[in-house]
Amino acid sequence: MAIIGIDLGTTNSLACVYRNGRAELIPNELGDFKTSSAVSVLEDGTVLVGAVAKERLVSHPESTAASFKIWMGTEKRLNLGMRQFKPEELSALVLRQLLEDSTRYLGEPVEEAVISVPAYFNDDQRCATKLAAQLAGLTVRRLINEPSAAALYHRYSTQSGDSQMMIVDFGGGTLDVSIVDCFENIIEITAIAGDNRLGGNDIDHAIVAHFCKENGLVEERLAPSLRASLYRQAETAKIALSDVQETVITIQQEDTQYSLVLTNALLRQLCEPVFQKVRAVITRAMKDRERTSRIHDVVLVGGSSGLTIFGDFLEELFGRRPHVAQKPDEIVALGVGLCAGIKERAEDLQDLVMTDVCPFSLGVATYSYAGDKTPHMAVLIPRSSMLPASHQECFYTLHNHQNRLRFEIYQGEGYFASENLKLGELEVQVPPGLAGEQSALVTFTYDIDGILHVSAKSSGGDYRDTLLLNPNLHLSEEGQAEAMERIRQIQLAAQGSQKEQLLLERGLRLYEQTIGQRRKLAAELVGYWKQIMEQNDLIERERNYEWVKERLDLLEAQTEMDPLACGFWRDEPEVDE
Ligand code: ADP
Ligand code: MG
Repeated sequence: MAIIGIDLGTTNSLACVYRNGRAELIPNELGDFKTSSAVSVLEDGTVLVGAVAKERLVSHPESTAASFKIWMGTEKRLNLGMRQFKPEELSALVLRQLLEDSTRYLGEPVEEAVISVPAYFNDDQRCATKLAAQLAGLTVRRLINEPSAAALYHRYSTQSGDSQMMIVDFGGGTLDVSIVDCFENIIEITAIAGDNRLGGNDIDHAIVAHFCKENGLVEERLAPSLRASLYRQAETAKIALSDVQETVITIQQEDTQYSLVLTNALLRQLCEPVFQKVRAVITRAMKDRERTSRIHDVVLVGGSSGLTIFGDFLEELFGRRPHVAQKPDEIVALGVGLCAGIKERAEDLQDLVMTDVCPFSLGVATYSYAGDKTPHMAVLIPRSSMLPASHQECFYTLHNHQNRLRFEIYQGEGYFASENLKLGELEVQVPPGLAGEQSALVTFTYDIDGILHVSAKSSGGDYRDTLLLNPNLHLSEEGQAEAMERIRQIQLAAQGSQKEQLLLERGLRLYEQTIGQRRKLAAELVGYWKQIMEQNDLIERERNYEWVKERLDLLEAQTEMDPLACGFWRDEPEVDE
């Protein structure tokens, strides 16, 4: 039985398998390696995942969700139609889709996976990822940090000499920066820094905010579908600007048309706050590494590395243009696939060794004296410790007759505990005694998946441990079975139907996005195709599929084309019918 590697991205997810001596990406039903991390619920309760769901962000925003990875491990709930989902459940549906595609592609059942997570994911987010996998019926053999996976594949595929490199993974929702030391067959991650709320989405957001400001609109008051359409256009415009000098975004609200001309200079200006955050993260990574030897190579991965102005910005920062990895948006998945191969003990990967580090400091709140009101961090595992890391420390009572010791567990770099992220707490009983007589030994173990285990044993023999800590993410067996059943009951769209459904959803989106003649055409194509889809005649469907697709492609091209350049504003041309 195969182990697959999964890059569960904010924007796109990919699956990969190691076989016949190489990491092989697994195509989905539409023949693409990338599956949009989007989920949409149809009226009958069927769930669509991937490109089809992404189309529905515009046409059915109230029953569609995307970018939910940024909510993993939080209390956030998302409403899709009549149902409410936790972010883990939505991720579970994406995983289930990848699993089905992998099973079909490989012709054998898949039950185990290596899954990548942003290096800067905290404990709750990692546990949420494991929970999502469990809900999808997958056993996680290992969580691996995304930039480490990228480093692994980069090293494996380029076979360059011993060197130090920096991997910058700039995706849709997260930024991760790792410094990697490559020596013979050993790939050692020496420092990690990141921001798991920073990515290409923020750039889209800045464009939309500017658009609204310039046009006197209030984003929150736009109709959901119009807003979704605006985001889609912002993203398209952002990507287009790597090839053209300027592009235009237009929306139509009632009888008024609003627009914005976007140039690279303007985009750069809008990106400045985002780039300054990127700069801070890179600086932190550079400061953190122990060695000060030169970095030979800066490698960009992630979808947003395609942004020309991002390359410009880094060039200013480093004095040299960093190079974009060969397959910037597939490299993480390929690396995870390699890691799956290593787990399967593939012969030819036997001597590839990778070590990783803990991205943040972990510790407990401690009081320096009786009456101390602002506890500080006693760090048990300092950031950049090599994984797995384990450390013990003894803590003593501060008061006479104190009968228990309570440990609040924190992650972060602030001196005061309250500046850091609280992960949970643990309490042990101690026998009564004078201040400082009784104690407890606290053990922190940060495992290879980046998940923290904490235990405390008191001088009186009381022992507690916690496989961290957030009860929502550590379901009881009952809770687990229930949650799994809930997800299992959800029907994913039948296999083989996605291609046709995608055509329909595209038509519906284009209907939302157009007006006048083009909208009329979209309506006609949707009506026609809907009727064809309902027929059982396979040949008829096949024949009409191409016909409808060609027309939708044309409509799409005309809709996305720069309205300034082709003069749509002056004279709306007839669409070929
Ligand atoms: P994630 O790992 O978060 O799922 P990806 O690495 O797939 O994300 O990157 C997705 C992001 O990359 C999106 O914000 C998308 O707009 C952006 N993106 C994709 N292609 C390009 C491009 N050619 N130029 C600029 N940005 C791009
Ligand atoms: Mg990614």
